[in-house]
Amino acid sequence: MDCLFCKIAEGSIPSRKVYEDEHVLAFEDIQPQAPVHLLVIPKKHIASLDEAGPEDAELLGRVALAARQAARDAGIAESGYRVITNIGKDSGQVVFHVHYHVLGGEPLGPLVA
Ligand code: C5P
Repeated sequence: MDCLFCKIAEGSIPSRKVYEDEHVLAFEDIQPQAPVHLLVIPKKHIASLDEAGPEDAELLGRVALAARQAARDAGIAESGYRVITNIGKDSGQVVFHVHYHVLGGEPLGPLVA
């Protein structure tokens, strides 16, 4: 499967990792939209949250907790941060492998500009 984030998850495309375990990877976004901008992905390919099923419940919980941990490790937990996942065309999703954006490090603007 020709999926950029699957390749990042398996290590064939490099990334700046900030967290990794058996199921989940977090890395720095290459085009940061905030002083801290991380992406948290399941290693399993799921195209978007809309494609997830009940069998993914535990995995998605792991992704959410990895986002929390990555935010803590980046030092933004106390001041606050935002976790976003884009789903489909109208959201602007460009990489079709579930990823949670973790944004922070400054006061963030409104959710929808
Ligand atoms: O949610 P969406 O699909 O729009 O976001 C994809 C994100 O993946 C973008 O923020 C982009 O900068 C990031 N990206 C990356 N490394 C790549 C390709 C895209 O961090 N090699």
